[in-house]
Amino acid sequence: MTYLAVPIAVKTLQEAEEQIQAAVATGAELLELRTDYLVHLSVDLALKVIDAARQFAPGLPIIVTCRDYQQGGTLRHPNGLRTNVLTAAVRAGAEFIDVEYENFISVAIGSKISLALSTGTETRLILSAHNFQTKFKNITKHYWEIANVFSGAIPKLVYSAHHINECFDILDLQHGTMGEMIAFCMDEPGFMTRVLTKKFNGLVSFASIGEKMATAPGQPTVEQLRDLYRWDSINAQTEFYGVIGDPIAHSLSPAVHNACFAERGLNKVYVPLLVAGEQSDFNAFMDNILSRPWLGFKGFSVTIPHKEYAINYVKEKGGVIDPLAERIGAANTIIVNGSQLSAYNTDCIAAIDAITVGLGIDKAGLREMPVAVIGAGGGARAVVAGLADAEAKIKIYNRTVERAKHLAHDFKCDYASLDSLHKLKEKLIVNCTSIGMHPHIDASPVDVKLLQKHIAVFDTVYTPPETLLLKHAREIGCKTISGVDMFLKQAAEQFRLFTGQSPNVETMRGILTHK
Ligand code: NAP
Repeated sequence: MTYLAVPIAVKTLQEAEEQIQAAVATGAELLELRTDYLVHLSVDLALKVIDAARQFAPGLPIIVTCRDYQQGGTLRHPNGLRTNVLTAAVRAGAEFIDVEYENFISVAIGSKISLALSTGTETRLILSAHNFQTKFKNITKHYWEIANVFSGAIPKLVYSAHHINECFDILDLQHGTMGEMIAFCMDEPGFMTRVLTKKFNGLVSFASIGEKMATAPGQPTVEQLRDLYRWDSINAQTEFYGVIGDPIAHSLSPAVHNACFAERGLNKVYVPLLVAGEQSDFNAFMDNILSRPWLGFKGFSVTIPHKEYAINYVKEKGGVIDPLAERIGAANTIIVNGSQLSAYNTDCIAAIDAITVGLGIDKAGLREMPVAVIGAGGGARAVVAGLADAEAKIKIYNRTVERAKHLAHDFKCDYASLDSLHKLKEKLIVNCTSIGMHPHIDASPVDVKLLQKHIAVFDTVYTPPETLLLKHAREIGCKTISGVDMFLKQAAEQFRLFTGQSPNVETMRGILTHK
């Protein structure tokens, strides 16, 4: 079993009692009592916190930790006191105590802990190693050093991942040894390891009661792990999907796809994958994933800034490119079928659908319509391809003019620099930049003075559902189309590609509009 563990990291006994009750209410399966947070730490106080856990969380196992300041502890408690707290926890029947491996191998601490554990107790020893800077040099060697230093010890190995491509050591370790351990990466790029550890039967994954209560960077809340990432349904057979992008924290794709997987009773979980960098970083990530089929990744959504990298990658690997994605030159969906990859673009049809429904016209109504497309990235490519197919009169405005020129050349349309937007004459404006997207919601790509009642505005940004651009346009009386409409359609199509089944679009809409 992989416990969903909540750290109780507070300064006083009273706060500990409150937090323990809150942890139980959120569905914690194990409590980590971080006694190093207690301001007036004493053996007596630590025992009172253990008693509180037994009283308010009966039946829940506990890990008692008194983390050394040098290794991520909060207060500078002396080694003698920390050791006494831990040995007292053993005598009090804690299921687990957590001792830093580096300290355990020092005779002064290790001998006292070993002695306490030798007295017929059921307490298990977790020996932990943290690296807050970078990866461990040789994590497998370190794992075995830790595992062999004390019979039955459970190694805990945790490091900060600055890039998602640094996470694979920890996944290899878990898959390679299948031993009992706690292993994950901190920070946002390491997020997937906190979910995947359940597939490999890791002992715990940590989660906080609320977002402000996280004890480590990148730690999710219990609610997120349980409700959003389908914690209870994850097992060795679970298939994984994810959205590759940067930034990615704002994405509603995990909520939408996981809700639909749950509704259809599918053993699939969808996670955010923060892949920073350019083509080479994208390629390295995909190589890392595909060389480890045991991870169980079967498909990806692809967003900013990777849609063009995605199609290049699939081509390079000899995969199948859907003709529409080929024509667009960008892919937002990759399907993994054994060693065979295929790339699709579900944005194009979704965008044209959103526009025609929003304007109350059919595709023929777009013929000769003057349209200003702002942006020239992967999303813009899909929109321009669809509009060009409908024979609209397109002008592309982009910050980087060279990129606009390139896109305009591919689809035989006009282009200009974003600075010349003040000369805009088009009847429909489509924003395909990320300007106005969460968290920068106070920005708009179009000066409000340029908007007039007869112009229709479609913003492909969907977080928030009404961007500042759409708000300005609505106030002026323009017809507006939200990125939510496009998002829903492209996500529904992706779901069909992922599962061969149709999603409940109303479930998707509910998530998008109520977040
Ligand atoms: P991308 O390939 O990275 O392209 C980003 C575009 O935004 C480029 O044209 C870039 O200009 C421009 N841009 C970014 N920051 C800018 C700034 N501060 N000032 C001026 N221009 C800026 O990303 P993408 O995949 O096309 O996505 C772009 C947006 O479309 C995102 O917000 C995404 O959520 C949205 N989208 C929505 C849907 C949907 O279903 N609703 C689908 C696809 C995309 P440069 O070329 O000068 O860098």
